[in-house]
Amino acid sequence: MAFDFESTTFGTREERLGSIVGYVGSIKDLAEQSRCGTLRERGRCFSQSSSCDAGCVLGYITHIRDVALINHAPSGCAAPASPIVTAQTQLAEKRSLSYNTVVLGTDLNESDTIFGAGAGLRQTILETWERYKPAAIFVTTSCVSGIIGEDVDSVIAEAAEEVPIPVVPIHCEGFKSKVWATGFDACDHAILSRIVKPPQQKGNFVNFKNFNESAREDIIDMFDAIGVDTFFLYSNTTLEEISHISEALATVSICGTLCSYLGNGLEEKYGVPYIKAINPLGVTGFETWFREIGRVVGKEKEVEAYITRERAIYIPQIEEVKKKLKGLRVVLGMGSSFAFQVARVVQELDMEVAYVTSWHYDSRYDDGNPPPHVQHLAAHTPVDFPVNIADQQNFELMNILNTYKPDLYLGRHGGTSVWAIKQGVPAIFMADEYMTFGYKRTLSFAHTVLDRITNRSFENNLSARIRLPYTKWWYQQESDSLYKEAE
Ligand code: SF4
Repeated sequence: MAFDFESTTFGTREERLGSIVGYVGSIKDLAEQSRCGTLRERGRCFSQSSSCDAGCVLGYITHIRDVALINHAPSGCAAPASPIVTAQTQLAEKRSLSYNTVVLGTDLNESDTIFGAGAGLRQTILETWERYKPAAIFVTTSCVSGIIGEDVDSVIAEAAEEVPIPVVPIHCEGFKSKVWATGFDACDHAILSRIVKPPQQKGNFVNFKNFNESAREDIIDMFDAIGVDTFFLYSNTTLEEISHISEALATVSICGTLCSYLGNGLEEKYGVPYIKAINPLGVTGFETWFREIGRVVGKEKEVEAYITRERAIYIPQIEEVKKKLKGLRVVLGMGSSFAFQVARVVQELDMEVAYVTSWHYDSRYDDGNPPPHVQHLAAHTPVDFPVNIADQQNFELMNILNTYKPDLYLGRHGGTSVWAIKQGVPAIFMADEYMTFGYKRTLSFAHTVLDRITNRSFENNLSARIRLPYTKWWYQQESDSLYKEAE
C-alpha cells in the first residue's frame, strides 16, 4: 500500500485493511472470504462497551522513555494513564533504567466544546516543555476534540516554533475506528513520519516489535547465536534510538496486528525488509519465522544449527506432556493475531480448538495480503472450527462458553478470563505475549495447561457461590442471533 507520511492523518484499519468487529462463521470461511475480499462487517443490534484507539495509543506510545503525551480530551479519557505509567515505570526498573515519561491532559469541558480549546492546548504544550523538558511531546486527539473540529495541527505547528523538540500530533479520535488496534498504527504513523531519520549506515541488528519484552534475554541470546543484534521497541526505548530503526537488517514482530503498519511502512519508506511469515508462537510458528529471518538476513546455516540444537533439547519433552493434554477442548478469546496463532499451538499440543473469538479481524495486512497465520491455520486444521469476531463482548463469550462447555478457556485480556472462571471454566490469562514463544516457552505453556486443568477447585468453588447476571433465555439463544448484516 502507498503510505502517506507527509500527512498527519492516516486511514483507519477499516479503511486500509477491511477490518471488522462483527462476524460469525468458521475458520475456513473466514480465510476464504479474506482471500476473496468478500468479508463484510455484520452489525450488532446490541453491544457492550469496548476499548478505543485513543486508549491504545496511550498504552503504547508511553513505552518510550522521557517523552510527554498531552491528551487533548476530557479528563475521563486519560483514566488509564495512572496504571499505564506505573506499569511502564516497573518495566524500566526491571532493566535498571529511569523512566520519566509524563501524561498530561487538557481536561476539555462543556465550555471548550463551544468556544474551542486551542489556546489551552498551546499553553499546555509550552508549560509541558518548561516543566519536564521531554525529548518530544505527542499530542493525542479524542472524540471531543474531533467532534468540535479542533484544528489541532495548526495549534501544534504554532506552538512547535517555540520549543526545541518535536511536537507530534497523533490523530486517534475514539469514534474514528471500531478497532482499537488502529491506535498502534496511529503511534507508528507518528513515529515513521516525524521521528525516524533516513539511514546513515546499515546496522547489524533487527527491529523486534513487541509489547513488554519479557523474553528479552532469551531473544538476545537467540539472535546472538546467528550473529545478529536485537533492538526491541517501543518498550524502554529512547527517541534517539528509535530514530535509527531505518538502519536495521529487517523488522520482526511477536504479533502481526501490532507490526503491520510499522513493518510495511518502514519497508516501503526505507527498504527495511519486514518478515511477513506467521509469528513465532509454538514450534511450527517459531521455525517458520526464524527460517524466514535467516533467509532475509543471510544466516540460513546458523538458523538451521540453532533449530537442530534446540529441537534435541525440547521436542522430546513437549511430546511427553502432549500425551496428557490430548483431546482437551479449548475456547480462545484474544486479539486477532494471538487468537489464531495460539489456536495453532493448541492443535500442535494435540488439544482441540472448540471455538475462537477474536477481538477484531483484518481482512488483509498493509502489504495487501490476508493475514498468513489465518491462511495457515485454515489449511492445516483437522476440523473447520467455529469462529466469531467480537470486540470483547463478554456477554457473547458467556453464551459461547455455556454452549461449548470447554475444558479450558485461554484469554489474553484479563477482563474475559474472570468471567469464564465465574462460569466454572478453568482459564489461563495469557497476558505475557511470550507465553508460547519458541520451544522453551511452548513446553512451559503445556505444563501450565496441565497444572490448570488438574486442580479445578478454584473455579468449582467460585462458580458455586456466584450468581451471574445472565438468564436462561440468553444461554438458549444462538450466539449469532443478535447479528444483522450491515447496511
Ligand atoms: S477518546 Fe472517545 S472513546 Fe476514547 S475514551 Fe475518550 S470519549 Fe471514550
